[in-house]
Amino acid sequence: MSPIVKDDRVLEFTCIICPMGCRLRATLKDGKVCSVEGNRCPRGIVYAQNEVEPKRILISVVKVIGGNLPVVSVKTSEPMPKEMMPEAMKILSNVTVQAPVKIGQIIIKDFLGLKINVIATRNVDPVQPS
Ligand code: SF4
Repeated sequence: MSPIVKDDRVLEFTCIICPMGCRLRATLKDGKVCSVEGNRCPRGIVYAQNEVEPKRILISVVKVIGGNLPVVSVKTSEPMPKEMMPEAMKILSNVTVQAPVKIGQIIIKDFLGLKINVIATRNVDPVQPS
């Protein structure tokens, strides 16, 4: 649900995390949430922050050298700012890893300085000699 802009510093919207449907009032400073009112639990604060500064888990693939598959699926360990997705996809398109790749393996540490990692979400075995 899109927030209702009350003024430059206050947004109001409904938390949809649970059926309580709390009416949240988020106060912003420099584009960031500095306080939330109306939430009955802490999840409402996180919801408000994600509404103001949308974050998503990035899911993509990176190239693999010497593997039984040409690419390995990857994802970020935590949600990242949605606005950084195009830059992130561009970086990942230039990343290559060497087989074997193990599920959960860190492909990129501290991705874009966000203190989150890009991790493999499947195994890629080395090509077996014929
Ligand atoms: S703030 Fe908490 S109680 Fe209220 S709707 Fe969100 S999750 Fe439910």
